[in-house]
Amino acid sequence: MPGGVSSPVRAYLSVGGEPPFLASASGTRVTDEAGREYLDFVGSWGPLILGHAHPKVVQAISEAAAKGTSYGAPCLAEIQLAEKVVEASPVADQIRFVNSGTEATMSALRLARGVTGRDLMVKFNGCYHGHGDAFLVKSGSGLATFGESSSQGVPQSVADSTGVLPLNDIPALEQWFEVHGAQTAAVFVEGIPANCGLLPQTKAWWNELSALTKKHGALLVVDEVITGFRLGKGGYCEIAEVEADLVTYGKVIGGGLPVGAYGGRQEYMELISPQGGVYQAGTLSGNPLCMAAGLAALKVLETENGWTRLEELGAYWENLLQPLMARETADGHPVSLRREASIFWLCFGADTPPLDFAGIPADGAKRYARFFHHLLNAGIMIAPSAYEVGFLNLAMTKQDLEIAADAFGAALEASR
Ligand SMILES: *Cc1c(COP(=O)(O)O)cnc(C)c1O
Repeated sequence: MPGGVSSPVRAYLSVGGEPPFLASASGTRVTDEAGREYLDFVGSWGPLILGHAHPKVVQAISEAAAKGTSYGAPCLAEIQLAEKVVEASPVADQIRFVNSGTEATMSALRLARGVTGRDLMVKFNGCYHGHGDAFLVKSGSGLATFGESSSQGVPQSVADSTGVLPLNDIPALEQWFEVHGAQTAAVFVEGIPANCGLLPQTKAWWNELSALTKKHGALLVVDEVITGFRLGKGGYCEIAEVEADLVTYGKVIGGGLPVGAYGGRQEYMELISPQGGVYQAGTLSGNPLCMAAGLAALKVLETENGWTRLEELGAYWENLLQPLMARETADGHPVSLRREASIFWLCFGADTPPLDFAGIPADGAKRYARFFHHLLNAGIMIAPSAYEVGFLNLAMTKQDLEIAADAFGAALEASR
């Protein structure tokens, strides 16, 4: 296995050391093969909003598995989950299930190109939309230009169809649309960019993005793979009243199993095969096992007042951490906190968290690596990269957070 892993960040290259191999997980804790237990803020990178192995989710999976894991035919569970998503989403009149967030964004891009008959798409520096060729493009030199591929193996022709703009930069948006507006099929943006720090955009920026896409007939695609069903039932689009054309989901809607989905207005979704000419398919898509897990997780969130409780936990966590940020910054070792609901990020090297990628201090990663290992030794697992966010879950108690905050305080001091 290249790097010993199935997904690169798991190899600990940016923090050093050997990743623990996990053997089991329950509630707030993961346990490695050596029997060491960790309080887990990674949450499998976002899906586990109820914590690990929630009894209701495990039960739903077991019951579904006993009735067969995949039919390759329509089933009731996919209709039930689709109804839940469509009911909750301010964007989606219809959805199509796929197996990952990557598939959701790739398919949404194809649909946007099918709808508009245009080729160009725009993304933002600091957003992640999975590993489809079109999205593995970073900004080239100069402002508001086409990108360069960020991975070997991505054809230049693909990078040539992708514009990469900085976040939090209205003039860059205006410049792009002035030159390329008539050729632009879609603009992709995360609801709250949470894959390169946590970079919420201003209301003014969203308004401008919305107005420009409308004016030029480009589709606004909000990637809610992290934010969907995590910030609240209707995701970022509902909270911020963003009028998107298409939306993508993943992570939380799978209840910890592999699921993605894309949705949008009916007139667009009707273009997807078999109804329309935009082809997209999947052998295991909408299988009863994954649908049951997602459905069970969303039901728990609804019936247990999940989003309100997560916001309360988040506020409590923020209050515990803020004095530590202030202490470090006053002592000349600036670090700052950004929190949005149950998502949080510590920015090392900045006393105020930035709103764009360029504002993230590059040298913060060295201290983060020391911080990370102090926490790991103290039995706390956070993401092995300074650019990744942390997640709270419904299994966590205020007491868990108090214990964690003490450890964060000690690790901050020790990592100076
Ligand atoms: C994780 C993520 C993806 C990719 O999802 P996978 O299931 O890992 O393929 C896409 N977009 C966003 C915003 C994500 O956070």
